[in-house]
Amino acid sequence: MLVFKFGGASVKDAGGIINLASVVKKYSDQQLLIVVSAMGKTTNALERLTKAYVDQTDDMHDIFNDIKEYHYNILSELFEPSHEVFDDVANTFVEIDWAIEDEPHDSYDFIYDQIVSIGELVSTRIVSAYLNKDGIKSQWLDVRGYIHTDNTYREGIVQWDKTRASIGKDIPALLAKGAVVTQGFLGGTSENFTTTLGREGSDYTASIFAACLGAESVTTWKDVPGILNADPKFFADTVKFDELSYSEAIEMTYYGASVIHPKTIKPLQNAKIPLLVKPFTDPTAPGTVIKEDGVNKFEKPVIILKQNQVLLSVSTKDYSFISEDHLSEIFRLFAQSQVKINVMQTSALSFSVCFDFYEERFEKLLANLQQDFKVKYNNDLTLITIRHYGQNSVAELTAGKKVLLEQISRNTAQVVVR
Ligand code: ASP
Ligand code: MG
Repeated sequence: MLVFKFGGASVKDAGGIINLASVVKKYSDQQLLIVVSAMGKTTNALERLTKAYVDQTDDMHDIFNDIKEYHYNILSELFEPSHEVFDDVANTFVEIDWAIEDEPHDSYDFIYDQIVSIGELVSTRIVSAYLNKDGIKSQWLDVRGYIHTDNTYREGIVQWDKTRASIGKDIPALLAKGAVVTQGFLGGTSENFTTTLGREGSDYTASIFAACLGAESVTTWKDVPGILNADPKFFADTVKFDELSYSEAIEMTYYGASVIHPKTIKPLQNAKIPLLVKPFTDPTAPGTVIKEDGVNKFEKPVIILKQNQVLLSVSTKDYSFISEDHLSEIFRLFAQSQVKINVMQTSALSFSVCFDFYEERFEKLLANLQQDFKVKYNNDLTLITIRHYGQNSVAELTAGKKVLLEQISRNTAQVVVR
């Protein structure tokens, strides 16, 4: 059996869903489990809705109405008004009406997961209904009963034994009856609350199903020809990798290559299942194959940009050296605030750290650190990581930019710039 994952860009409009069906049709002789993300930029819009609800701002209903309108417009292009999918979608959106009816009491992360998850619950209803309409037998599956997580909201930790047992028990029989369409990015807790697995987590969902079902391969269908050495939105003349080893792919995602979610590769590597990254506009193109013996050919350095970075430096209040005790306290505070470190550097008097800016987490971290330390920071920075850098690549990429931190190792150069 095969696992397919379609991301938001591939289902951003009616044409995308029609194209998805045409891709799926080419594999009608195979058992398919299809993981789908929220449509287009819906997750971002639902994040804004969550914030508006928690802050109780006036634009809350407008944001929600825009989200609904976007989906209903697509539905109207794909189905007759009497089709039952309209009711399924309306019943799913009602969950948000209930969630935002009263003033917020729960934690931000909990509320976030209950609201933001609606994006995938709706997109999969639409995709599954359209496949059926187009003659491809498909079954909608609520992933929250299969991918079990703890209650770390916004970053659910998968409980593998339970997940494997649930998937193994029901899914093979379903696959024998037709394609299974399910939500990426979501999980469920033992108390039946919804969790999310971290932004862009649908790839990880596909990998969890593949590992639990012993799939032949996972294909993630993208709006690019495969994995490129750099993001074509920022760089001209990119080159595609035909193959990559699991280890190189893990390294690339670790440094922030957004083409695959960082947690995706490990379960596939353990189960020796190849990951194919292919263009949804040209399904017969070879794309990139990630596998154990994948050959890494670096014609050009790999360039990974991470924007919206904070560079923060911590020193002691009495200007004494930063000791191991201080470091251990600083790391504890980072972990407690759920801030993940992208690069760090120590000197005698300060410890500098670069990380992604998430407002609530950042403010929590700052408040905690400031109790015992002096803290300085800059935000709106970019972290450039260059793997397999050539002699000139670092200088070329940083030309005209102010470099705030630089770290160079044998294979990888990292610079924080403004
Ligand atoms: N829709 C979610 C997000 O945009 C998950 C995903 O796309 O993989 O983060
Ligand atoms: Mg998405």
